[in-house]
Amino acid sequence: MNLMGELSGAIERHEIGAHFQPQIDVKTGLIVAVELLSRWTHPSLGLIGPDEFIPLAEESGLIDEIGAVMIDLGCECAADWQSRGWNIQVAVNVSAAELPASRFLVRIFENVDRLHLDPSGLTVEITESRAINDAREAVARLTVLRGLGVGVSIDDFGTGYSSIDQLLALPSTEVKLDRSLVQSDDEESLRAMEIIVALAHVRRVSVVAEGVETAEHLERVRLLGCDRAQGFYLARPGPRAEIEAMLELQDAARPREEIA
Ligand code: C2E
Ligand code: CA
Ligand code: CA
Repeated sequence: MNLMGELSGAIERHEIGAHFQPQIDVKTGLIVAVELLSRWTHPSLGLIGPDEFIPLAEESGLIDEIGAVMIDLGCECAADWQSRGWNIQVAVNVSAAELPASRFLVRIFENVDRLHLDPSGLTVEITESRAINDAREAVARLTVLRGLGVGVSIDDFGTGYSSIDQLLALPSTEVKLDRSLVQSDDEESLRAMEIIVALAHVRRVSVVAEGVETAEHLERVRLLGCDRAQGFYLARPGPRAEIEAMLELQDAARPREEIA
């Protein structure tokens, strides 16, 4: 089966959707953010993960269209949840391959306008940021987003030597420590994480630890001073109804004075 050939039809047939994974505040244990992870519901193959079709989309240029689907969905969720009084940051992945086209920026502006969305409830996670070809152009686009109030996150942080440079160069509000670092307990990784957390905090950039799979991982990132944690130990990515059930429960447990 030629997946590449089917991908453009999949977008038209609305087969591209998302699963949702929460991030918790390490200090309070509350869900404070939710990441949208794209999923392709193929009519015969079932659910296909992004590792399979995002590279194809980047290659074929369809990434802009998939990006638009995900931005629309993320903005719609953010607006819906804001209207329910839930203070949840919604994160959408934007590939470095989308940065050169201004379409994703325009799409965000259109959604903010149409949905009366508070843009500070939205974060874009820049994936494959090492593949940014024109750093000046990327900085310019991301600066526009920051000006609107949208958060900018550097994904998979710590997987390449250029990471620290990017923390200094990109107008980011957040870094996401890659799970290869988070899950490693050797001295070198721990020291690297300490330095990243310190540098990020000096720059008022928050740190999200990804790939938290065990209680030990959570304790480690708590001791290191990470702000948020995300991973299978806390919750696996799941359908929208599942995350909304979690957010409803959390909302129902809110102290009364906070609601008033
Ligand atoms: P990512 O942005 O780093 O997303 C986290 C990935 O790790 C997700 O895989 C998630 O399911 C998985 N994960 C979460 N917690 C754990 C854990 O505790 N342990 C392990 N081993 N894995 C965990 P997923 O959904 O397969 O996504 C893979 C990658 O595809 C994403 O990595 C992201 O780079 C890319 N991606 C996903 N959705 C989109 C999208 O809409 N646009 C773009 N451009 N890229 C996307
Ligand atoms: Ca991500
Ligand atoms: Ca990541």
